[in-house]
Amino acid sequence: MDATHDVTNQVPPLEGYNAFSTNPWLVAAAGGLPVAAAAKALGEYVGSAEAQLAARDANRNAPELSTHDRSGHRLDFVAYHPSYHALMERAMGAGVHSAAWTTPRDGFTSRAVLFYLWNVLEQGTACPVTMTFAGVQVLRQAPGLARAWEPKVLANSYDARPLPHTVKSGVTLGMAMTEKQGGSDLRTVQTRADVAAGGEYRLTGHKWFCSAPMSDAFFTLARLPEGVTCFFVPRSLPDGTRNPFFIQRLKDKCGNRSNASSEIEYRDTQAWIVGEPGRGIATLIEMAHLTRFDIVVGTAGMMRSALAEAVHHARHREAFGKKLADHALMGNVLADLTLEAQAATLLAFRLARAFDASGAGSDAAGGRERAVQRILTPVAKYWHCKRLPVMAVEAMEVLGGNGYVEESPLSRLYREAPLNGIWEGSGNVICLDVLRSLAKSAEGLGALLEDMAAPGDARLARHAQAIRDGLARSEGAEMAARRWVEMLALGIQAALMARHASPAASEAFIATRIGGDGGRQFGTLPPSTPTDRILE
Ligand SMILES: Cc1cc2nc3c(=O)[nH]c(=O)nc-3n(C[C@H](O)[C@H](O)[C@H](O)COP(=O)(O)OP(=O)(O)OC[C@H]3O[C@@H](n4cnc5c(N)ncnc54)[C@H](O)[C@@H]3O)c2cc1C
Repeated sequence: MDATHDVTNQVPPLEGYNAFSTNPWLVAAAGGLPVAAAAKALGEYVGSAEAQLAARDANRNAPELSTHDRSGHRLDFVAYHPSYHALMERAMGAGVHSAAWTTPRDGFTSRAVLFYLWNVLEQGTACPVTMTFAGVQVLRQAPGLARAWEPKVLANSYDARPLPHTVKSGVTLGMAMTEKQGGSDLRTVQTRADVAAGGEYRLTGHKWFCSAPMSDAFFTLARLPEGVTCFFVPRSLPDGTRNPFFIQRLKDKCGNRSNASSEIEYRDTQAWIVGEPGRGIATLIEMAHLTRFDIVVGTAGMMRSALAEAVHHARHREAFGKKLADHALMGNVLADLTLEAQAATLLAFRLARAFDASGAGSDAAGGRERAVQRILTPVAKYWHCKRLPVMAVEAMEVLGGNGYVEESPLSRLYREAPLNGIWEGSGNVICLDVLRSLAKSAEGLGALLEDMAAPGDARLARHAQAIRDGLARSEGAEMAARRWVEMLALGIQAALMARHASPAASEAFIATRIGGDGGRQFGTLPPSTPTDRILE
């Protein structure tokens, strides 16, 4: 049959590139660290057609729950598409879950490079990866469990078999805290723990959200007479039988579809106590602090992914006689998106370095950086999560109609974008956490304001002073929390841009985000901005 038309001016998929080597911000973040070689290998995979296909398939073929076998016995088994397993194998094989704990120096920064890259590719698998990483911190509060489990957690091996950890080559960890009556307010936990013979506990209750339910063990919350307490729940018991862990149903989610998120019930479920009775929320907040850090890093990776797709499209597609990217107004949009992604990357790695430095000991620098990571984690978590969805929408619009169809990676990213703002502390909860952290110690804030003033830019100095003055007024603090957190995030991003970005990028960022010379949408950089130089 005759062709009806020629196919022209369509954009080839963005694949066959190295997501690490082509990202100068990430290369700079990894500068001088041994992780650079592993990052290059992972970057090659992330940019490959094979990986893009796996990410797409894992999300289009959502996991399925089998509650019972054909004879009616409980199974509580979640079957994933082979592409999900292939992605998990890659991520864990590359140590995306473990590198922070196994790298002798700068482990958090090294791992952040890998986790950022992973989030350029796929986010459903990032969930079990991040929980496994963060779970190590809590596991270490129960030395007996840590001795038995940590080697398997830190093994760079993915083993999906539903078997006891002792026979598996690697394991994953999850956390189940949220119940029907409350997720942010965990003081309302209903699940009950009763002491059993042998010193362990039996749980009765439910969890309304439990992601990655095929993980090998979960940190969970249950009530003892002393109060809400943290427990460790393995899916398989030492005698090889399965621990009662009833998966009631899987959530039908807006995005994050490769990852199973479930509702579960405990009935006579064996559990081991972690930390002190009645201190469960504080114990698990330590884990959440790390998952929040991961969200800061992951959202920066997702912004980079959105930007890469948008720039790639605009450099190939023509309209009105020239490439989209060569139109002045599109140049403004792309340059503005670039500033946002670069500032997010710089902030993520500023935070990663603070984590590394705070583990360095009790010297003055370590103390300062410990205070910085305490406050900067929620500040950056809030801000990145607010900016990512807006950025995803704008990047999608750059692709026009092609961005809105499921074949485009942008539609997946768009549906994924709000999630990080909801879990691990939603926006308000995070801002209130910043206020609480400020009330405990002003050291972190002082250090951040010092950093803000350091570049010697009058606009930044004024911005820092406005934050200092505003926070000193205690009336209406709660009402103003979002505003101060936003200003803090922008101020620290601007200072990082002043130190690390090109003069053109730094000036455009400070002028629009701090200096008031910009609009409320992307693409409103001042007309004099050298957008080409920023895009380069
Ligand atoms: C896909 C997905 C997967 C998840 N996986 C897990 C998991 O594996 N394990 C797990 O434990 N949980 C999981 N969650 C649950 C998630 O952590 C909670 O949904 C989240 O903590 C918010 O709790 P909530 O849904 O009960 O909302 P609520 O606590 O009811 O909060 C609703 C809104 O009110 C705001 N709010 C709350 N308190 C205040 C306040 N004092 N002042 C002002 N505003 C306030 C919040 O910021 C939020 O915007 C998952 C959620 C999703 C969507």
